[in-house]
Amino acid sequence: MFSFELLPPAKGQGIQSIFNTMDELMEFNPPFIDVTYHREDYLYKQHPNGLLERVAYRKRPGTVAICAAIMNKYKVDAVPHLICGGFTKEETENALIDLDFLGIDNVLVLRGDARKGDPDFIPTPGGHAYATELLAQVVDMNNGKYLHEDIEGSKTNFCIGVAGYPEKHFEAPNFNTDFKWLKKKVEMGANFIVTQMFYNIDRYKEFVIKCRDNGIDVPIIPGLKPLTNKKQLISLPKIFHLDIPEELSSAIEECKTNADVQKVSTEWMVNMCKELIDFGVPVLHFYTMSNPGPTKKIVEQLA
Ligand SMILES: Cc1cc2nc3c(=O)[nH]c(=O)nc-3n(C[C@H](O)[C@H](O)[C@H](O)COP(=O)(O)OP(=O)(O)OC[C@H]3O[C@@H](n4cnc5c(N)ncnc54)[C@H](O)[C@@H]3O)c2cc1C
Repeated sequence: MFSFELLPPAKGQGIQSIFNTMDELMEFNPPFIDVTYHREDYLYKQHPNGLLERVAYRKRPGTVAICAAIMNKYKVDAVPHLICGGFTKEETENALIDLDFLGIDNVLVLRGDARKGDPDFIPTPGGHAYATELLAQVVDMNNGKYLHEDIEGSKTNFCIGVAGYPEKHFEAPNFNTDFKWLKKKVEMGANFIVTQMFYNIDRYKEFVIKCRDNGIDVPIIPGLKPLTNKKQLISLPKIFHLDIPEELSSAIEECKTNADVQKVSTEWMVNMCKELIDFGVPVLHFYTMSNPGPTKKIVEQLA
């Protein structure tokens, strides 16, 4: 099975770009489609007196509505990402109520990235600092427990995913500490794990084996991102602290055009996916960045 992650369009663009991407990918019968969530960033507005005013704005709003539109139009499960950053607990509760009413009962709970310009992740006052806390709130609602204790709430039925890092989260002091938090998330009620992207399949396999040896028995969905340009050899390890195997990086360094890079990447990913299928992965999950072309080329060779 193949599943895909989409980004909401930048503010001001219509939903048609999402439908165009979906139209390209539906032929592969995805069991679900993820839609990312983006915290607000800052804009700096210059006043006539020269002073700069910092204005918060959300560049990619619309996650919940996009999920509802996808489910309505394509009859496929949509999985909104829920993040800690930018939400108070009350706002999170209201968002979860909306999702429940819309019949969207799968969520991927995450801490969220730091805002552009912030050195680290800064929690929203009255919000959550870690995915574990957000997860606890969703689990509470699945048990009918809402923020205000006098409310006798109906039980929601969210199936909850969390992020896992085969090469450790970049802020964690070491792999085992990060792994301890992942185990905690599963013990608290996470139903599935989606991994950070990786290019070294051994890292994924070792990660799954470690999970199984430590009693983590939920599905571990591999996250896959096709490479599209040479700059990613620097940007991806820098942002995500992942290893790009030398064989792949050398082949990409020799490429003259982005089309060459995509060819090398496609071949690498197809081989990796075949090995993942043999390893027994439940589903191959592609980070499309809402650009379906490179993913489609890979999936076509596997379907
Ligand atoms: C599949 C996937 C989808 C993503 N989608 C989005 C998205 O839509 N929007 C977005 O903004 N970002 C997204 N991200 C990025 C993600 O938000 C970042 O990687 C973020 O830095 C960490 O999120 P997390 O949920 O793993 O955080 P956490 O699980 O909270 O972990 C963050 C760090 O704190 C440590 N830690 C965890 N729990 C605790 C605790 N209770 N106490 C102390 N330390 C702890 C961990 O070891 C880790 O180093 C995604 C990542 C993945 C892998």
